Amino acid sequence: MPQKGSCNYLTCPMCDVEVPMAGDEKVGESVYCPYCQTPLALRKEKETEEFFLEEDF
Ligand SMILES: [Zn+2]
Repeated sequence: MPQKGSCNYLTCPMCDVEVPMAGDEKVGESVYCPYCQTPLALRKEKETEEFFLEEDF
């Protein structure tokens, strides 16, 4: 999976679909998966500095 500090697409942890990002989201910001409508919070991996999405119920 090519991921190089870019957060254009992040994978939904619930349904594995790629969620498009505007690119100016900030850590902690909430987005909704367009596929399963799960509220997701934008997180950043401390060690790798990669962005990922986490369920935010
Ligand atoms: Zn989803």
